[in-house]
Amino acid sequence: MDEMLTAIVDAARPRFTEGKVATYIPELGKAQADALGLAVMTVEGEGHSAGDRDYPFSIQSISKLISLALALTELGEERVFSHVGVDPTPDPFNSIMRLEMDRVHRPYNPLVNAGAIAVISLLPYGESESRTAAVLDLARRLTANGTLAVNESIYRSEKTTSDRNRALAYFMKSTAILKGDVEDVLDSYFRQCSIEAAVGDLAVMGATLASGGINPVSGERVLSTRVCRVIRALMATCGMYDGSGEFAIRVGIPAKSGVGGGIVAVVPRRMGIAVCGPSLDGKGNSICGMEVLEELSRSMRLRVF
Ligand code: GLN
Repeated sequence: MDEMLTAIVDAARPRFTEGKVATYIPELGKAQADALGLAVMTVEGEGHSAGDRDYPFSIQSISKLISLALALTELGEERVFSHVGVDPTPDPFNSIMRLEMDRVHRPYNPLVNAGAIAVISLLPYGESESRTAAVLDLARRLTANGTLAVNESIYRSEKTTSDRNRALAYFMKSTAILKGDVEDVLDSYFRQCSIEAAVGDLAVMGATLASGGINPVSGERVLSTRVCRVIRALMATCGMYDGSGEFAIRVGIPAKSGVGGGIVAVVPRRMGIAVCGPSLDGKGNSICGMEVLEELSRSMRLRVF
């Protein structure tokens, strides 16, 4: 198994030249473009890894799964999905256009920036500090890693440059989709995006979602089976943004990407897989990460569609 994973990583790595690391958050521009790590965790708790398995990266949009899981657990589907839809959009992850064009001003789904920011604003935890603490606590339980933390330089870098997200959030405040203080809600969003992890952590999180909520490493029930099912469905339809359809055909596994280069993928009832390769395609998805997942899916017959 380890040999096969290493061969897949080695074969995919040269393709990093086809993309670019994200630089619109200046600190992300420091990422190592040719880093590539892979980790697998089964629902029985058997783990394997290959490549740059210890490479630390910020989970970025993968954190949207965590705040959504928290909101669904605390508030229920009806309340959450009255503020954000559940359907894919052909627009980029940070697009503003449809928020105003559509008659109902709800963001399309909770995995694009507008949707995630709206969901965070619903969390019943007072201010940014306690909201972030709750998200971080869930992240630690999903990964069975009690030391996960926010990377402060990435957080500050995004906070000082993120005018696009500010525009989305203020617009949603004007239409009453976003609750509370805009800057405070954004602060939680920037912090959760800056949570730093390695592929092994996210493979455990993927396995927890694959098993229906039981973390295979800690043995703890972290989420309900219903919440896991909703999250997996949204990953399959919206997790790779405007590349979700193509990814479903190429790889065929529910997955969620982040502009730090990470992708977490979930094979229901079987395993979680995580990859990180910071070189991205034009849609913000890891080029080598997708290549690794395609090859792994093919050789282990993982596709669910
Ligand atoms: N923090 C990033 C942003 O808001 C997350 C985007 C992503 O990972 N696709 O732009």
